[in-house]
Amino acid sequence: MQHRIIVLGAGYTGAIAAGRIAKRLRREDVAITLVNAEPDFVERVRMHQLATGQDLKPRPFSEMFAGTGVELRLATVTGIDVDRKTVAVIDANGAEELAYDTLVYALGSGWNDQGVPGTAEHAYEIASRPGALRLRERLARLDAGQTVVVVGGGLTGVEAATEIAEARPDLEVALVARGGLGDWLSPQGREHLRKVFGKLGITVYEHEAVTGVEADRVATADGNAIPAAVTVWTTGFAVHPIAKATTLEVTSTGQIVVDGTMRSVSHPDVYAVGDAAMAMGPGDKPLRMSCASGTLAAWQAADAIAARLSDGKLPNAPIRYFNQCISLGRKEGLIQYVTADDRAVRAILTGRLAAVYKELVCKGAAWGVANPTFGLPTRRRRVTREQAVAGSVVKALA
Ligand SMILES: Cc1cc2nc3c(=O)[nH]c(=O)nc-3n(C[C@H](O)[C@H](O)[C@H](O)COP(=O)(O)OP(=O)(O)OC[C@H]3O[C@@H](n4cnc5c(N)ncnc54)[C@H](O)[C@@H]3O)c2cc1C
Repeated sequence: MQHRIIVLGAGYTGAIAAGRIAKRLRREDVAITLVNAEPDFVERVRMHQLATGQDLKPRPFSEMFAGTGVELRLATVTGIDVDRKTVAVIDANGAEELAYDTLVYALGSGWNDQGVPGTAEHAYEIASRPGALRLRERLARLDAGQTVVVVGGGLTGVEAATEIAEARPDLEVALVARGGLGDWLSPQGREHLRKVFGKLGITVYEHEAVTGVEADRVATADGNAIPAAVTVWTTGFAVHPIAKATTLEVTSTGQIVVDGTMRSVSHPDVYAVGDAAMAMGPGDKPLRMSCASGTLAAWQAADAIAARLSDGKLPNAPIRYFNQCISLGRKEGLIQYVTADDRAVRAILTGRLAAVYKELVCKGAAWGVANPTFGLPTRRRRVTREQAVAGSVVKALA
């Protein structure tokens, strides 16, 4: 009897988890299905590059998972019943229900409009590929001198504003931040950011909250109106509502609450990784929605699932941060070194070297998805019979 493992979402974390579980367990003992809405891997960390007209390397899953034992199911997940252990999906052939013994939830996140009026109608987003492509098309039609306003002073906003300003020096680019520019960085990091923003001619509105978006402007809480031919909205990410509609324990924002092995605290046969999970990291702080921590969480989940199914030793690798790698266009960058719990330290790397470093990190992240055990040989463990049938027995009794 095969133990059925379904992984939902083939972004950075879901694809890594599926591939790594396949490397850890004997093929004949598990059926691993990876459900994703799109046929190729989306390098989400490069959406600002896609939006500014750069073409990304195609990464079809058919190549990535060929011969790995992971079966890709191209479909959209519409719901989950964690008590019946089923997933509802829909594809070109219609709706279907898939049964699982172990579920890994990795549906990631989308943009977060924070409920600000006018965003849905007028703002552009770069949290998804369709969003980035829509912005790309709009930017290409802008005339010289028109203004692009990026709302959000976090990592995504900073990367988007600098990328647009570098790619289109003929446009007026502005960034609106609720706090100060790069205020989470070290003084050295902040200074570098200001220098690059100055060089690229980006206007910065600090300590401003945007309260409304219109077709040609954004309104701020102070009563100001900032002209904007295009508004790019980057104020954080929001998870998809699917988990919240289940009996899983979730946070108020819909992230699945997990323990240190990325296992749901309410449903032991469900794991969650990446943006969709709420896991505590070093310093008892929730892990930030990022590839940086999501990748480590995906390794942890995959190793924990393999260990539990084969009566092996549970992993206990600490999930920690090392640096924040920020692209500032293609020629500049900022690597801000941080403590284990993500607080900036003095050390930074800047300039072209930082740009190259960031590029290597992005390439490495995509390589890591296709090589979830770094290409090292692994021993595939036998799934113990008790574990293999456990899920099915529960189902039969229900
Ligand atoms: C522009 C930008 C720059 C970024 N830069 C960085 C950075 O430099 N460093 C960093 O650490 N993080 C960065 N991030 C954040 C990082 O991209 C995310 O944290 C990361 O992608 C989360 O991985 P994930 O696997 O949880 O979700 P995702 O990568 O979003 O993957 C989710 C997958 O689920 C699929 N999916 C979603 N809903 C459904 C459904 N209903 N049915 C079927 N499939 C579905 C999606 O198609 C996707 O394949 C950046 C994000 C953006 C947008």
